Amino acid sequence: QNICKPEGYVMDTYSDFDTVEALNRRLAAPLRKLVRTKFFRTLRVELYKPCQFWRSEGSCFQRDCIVQPLEDRDIPAAWRKQTVDQTNFGPFLGSFPRQRPEYSDKDFALVNDETYGEGVWLDLVENPERFTGYAGAGANAIWMSIYQHNCFGVPPYIQDTAGGWGSQLVNVDGKSMPFVQPPRKHRDLAPFLESLAEEDTALTLPADVPREYRMFYRAVSGLHASTSTHICADYFNATSNQWEPNLNCFIARIGAFPDRLQNIYFNFVLLTRAMQKMAPFLSAYDYSTNVPKEDRAVIKLIPKVLSTVKKAGLVFDDSELFLSANGPGLKTEFKENFRNISRIMDCTGCEKCRLWGKTQTLGIGTALKVLFSYPDRAFRGRFTSLDFKRNEIVALITTYFQFSRSIEDIAMFRGMYQNLVTDW
Ligand code: FAD
Repeated sequence: QNICKPEGYVMDTYSDFDTVEALNRRLAAPLRKLVRTKFFRTLRVELYKPCQFWRSEGSCFQRDCIVQPLEDRDIPAAWRKQTVDQTNFGPFLGSFPRQRPEYSDKDFALVNDETYGEGVWLDLVENPERFTGYAGAGANAIWMSIYQHNCFGVPPYIQDTAGGWGSQLVNVDGKSMPFVQPPRKHRDLAPFLESLAEEDTALTLPADVPREYRMFYRAVSGLHASTSTHICADYFNATSNQWEPNLNCFIARIGAFPDRLQNIYFNFVLLTRAMQKMAPFLSAYDYSTNVPKEDRAVIKLIPKVLSTVKKAGLVFDDSELFLSANGPGLKTEFKENFRNISRIMDCTGCEKCRLWGKTQTLGIGTALKVLFSYPDRAFRGRFTSLDFKRNEIVALITTYFQFSRSIEDIAMFRGMYQNLVTDW
């Protein structure tokens, strides 16, 4: 079983795995530098919105779950000024202040965090996505809730068997998708893999599931798999007291599940297509922070990233999606479901996980907005019809980098796995 090396085409795209990896080798370095600049590492997020769906089951207060907010003096004055107090929003209707809009019709995610409400300014580089120790029924419940209630079209195929938290997912054939515990020692890995080989760990979405539904499921599963990859690549080993990659963790959560691995690449391809479409707008955008060194860096890096992305050619065909007779209704449903995922992220009981859950949901939501809320021509000329806020641009490029990082991590784990297999 070649667990860390996917082959052939990334399903539902025009890209094969090798080409995606080659593209990522060219992109990873400039993207990494770009997301370390002040413009891209500084983000305001409404981190403490109450969970609307269930009573929160307790929070993780361990050191690695907590985020450190930035001081006001670290935020460019122009960005601070844009912040609007939610209670002062808009004209009064009767004696009640009008509710601020959480989104516009074009949005696939909730976007208003940067300018409204109780947001906190954070430094994304200082709070990386990695192992935090947040796990258990609460964490499982969030992923379950996303799959069960929001992957419309998919629930008939992936269902909660027992109901309630911590129950298992079943795959297309009704087989249970195991909650797999990573084997503790490398020598336990071979028997573990053998035991998995007897299960069908490949989740194949039936061909008659509409492409829009498949895209939705792949986007969510890919985000989940990418998060898991970062957890395993930047794992805290409590025995050695070191942060280090954990191969067993990677294999047990992603490597042994071809569809999860594949969905990471799927998201990278989807985001690449969005970057290609948005390129003229991104190259004209004003990234200034009034810190000359930072601004010079962005001006140098943006063209590098965009020209690499443009050279990638046709990666994903979005032109046929949502065009069938029920296309408009499907798109509305798709947006409502994806926005719901934004809301579910508020239920995550670990600040840092919530930060990354919200940021990446916004990043993928922004990519979907670029692809499905505007025609190509809107990104040419003077961009007058476009409405993208600063946090959407930060989230899009940050999320692109997170998937780029996952693809690099997969290559690293592949090397570790090959060395291990040679030793067996
Ligand atoms: P989970 O990852 O919780 O998955 C639950 C079940 O979903 C699995 O048993 C499996 O059946 C199925 N499944 C797993 N992966 C996929 C996939 N890719 N596609 C389809 N089905 C799948 N922990 C951290 O340490 N650091 C973080 O930054 C972090 N961020 C998080 C952000 C969010 C929004 C959430 C909800 C959780 C986050 N967590 C984070 C917790 C982490 O994602 C796991 O929930 C936790 O590590 C427990 O993992 P698990 O093995 O029980 O399975």
